[in-house]
Amino acid sequence: MLATDDGARVIAGGQTLVPLMAMRLARPTRLVDIARIPGLSFIREQGAAVVVGAATRQHVVESDPLIRTKVPLLAKVMPYVGHSATRARGTVGGSIANGDAAAEIVLVAVTLEATLTWRENGADHEMSAADFFLGPMVTSLPLAACLKSVSFPVWQEPRVGTGFHEVNARQSDFAFVSAAAQLALDAEGLCTSATIGLGAATAVPMRLDAVADALTGCAFDEAKVREAATAALADVEMLADLHASAAYRRRVAVTMVVRAVADAYQSAARRA
Ligand SMILES: Cc1cc2nc3c(=O)[nH]c(=O)nc-3n(C[C@H](O)[C@H](O)[C@H](O)COP(=O)(O)OP(=O)(O)OC[C@H]3O[C@@H](n4cnc5c(N)ncnc54)[C@H](O)[C@@H]3O)c2cc1C
Repeated sequence: MLATDDGARVIAGGQTLVPLMAMRLARPTRLVDIARIPGLSFIREQGAAVVVGAATRQHVVESDPLIRTKVPLLAKVMPYVGHSATRARGTVGGSIANGDAAAEIVLVAVTLEATLTWRENGADHEMSAADFFLGPMVTSLPLAACLKSVSFPVWQEPRVGTGFHEVNARQSDFAFVSAAAQLALDAEGLCTSATIGLGAATAVPMRLDAVADALTGCAFDEAKVREAATAALADVEMLADLHASAAYRRRVAVTMVVRAVADAYQSAARRA
């Protein structure tokens, strides 16, 4: 149906698509409901990754023990994805396919370099999250495709820590700025690897690799992280809207990154 009708759309949790239809901002000719396809709803370990089926409900991910132990950054952001009522129906794949720059699941996919798999005309295709998100609610997903799964890499180091912070008007509203960090420490407390992501501030969530590089080989140093984040964001074009100006987002982004990195160091240090 998707291949033969340009106006047909997949519906998963309906938490974004139904409001868009109610406001007449989306007018699909047909809806293809994937919510009850068992093969699209799963969480399983596969090699050095945890793979989440596209139609897996967000509330299932939120309380899943495998996600908690193997992809702790995803577990950490889930309570911030809307409200418990929206998470009861909303899906991981729906959030990814929707590609909102402020979506926490999208931020984690970019930060951890997740791999996305979709099916189109009977063939599977794969793409890194780094290439998938093109602009606000614009992705590389072809119109006739159905996203199947998201594969989150699992870090094998024994001392891995995560941090996440966001600023919004009210709890569970979409963020104005969000930052996520995951890093690994050696026995001396020095960072051996790090990844840092910034969400809601730019057209698509971005990884701050220069900040991650500045951490490598070092213990936590707030001034150093602040300096690296300020430099990394100096020339980046920030979003601006009624809620938050570009200048506000740039300033708050640095603070969110510092706090996320501080939490990641602390949580890694607590691991034996
Ligand atoms: C009040 C409220 C607050 C919210 N707050 C937040 C928030 O703070 N953070 C946040 O990240 N989100 C938030 N959301 C959005 C919520 O997380 C949605 O669940 C999510 O964005 C979309 O998931 P869904 O499964 O409901 O997708 P749907 O609404 O069913 O679909 C969304 C879009 O994705 C497409 N799609 C869905 N699944 C697939 C698939 N497998 N393959 C191809 N295309 C697909 C649909 O065609 C549609 O275009 C909020 C929603 C509401 C109503």
